[in-house]
Amino acid sequence: MIDVVKGGIGDEPYDPRGIMGQTVRRKRTKFGPATRSRLAQRDGEKCAYCGKGVSVDRATIDHVVPLKMGGDNDTGNLVLACSRCNGKKGSMDARSYVRLSIDRGEHVSGWLARKIERDDTA
Ligand SMILES: [Zn+2]
Repeated sequence: MIDVVKGGIGDEPYDPRGIMGQTVRRKRTKFGPATRSRLAQRDGEKCAYCGKGVSVDRATIDHVVPLKMGGDNDTGNLVLACSRCNGKKGSMDARSYVRLSIDRGEHVSGWLARKIERDDTA
């Protein structure tokens, strides 16, 4: 009897608390097209922050929790973002970036931004 471990990316919901608790550090790696398409399959070809459509080959991969803050290169810590949002986010973690954007009255309606907003007001 062989146990089949489901490795589907859709089975890994984004959990900021779990990610925040991680202290493992890994080297920065280059993400290949496979990682992009897995993320696109999970989240759609959309920027996680502003919600604008981004094609898989043009999307940037963003760390929800930056490596410097203890985030890792697991797909659970990765989202697709447009280069504009990724550039603005810089080395902030996702929650700080979304909060800052909301404070500035900027339009953030990507799935991750909405999730963070929901979690914060819950
Ligand atoms: Zn964006």
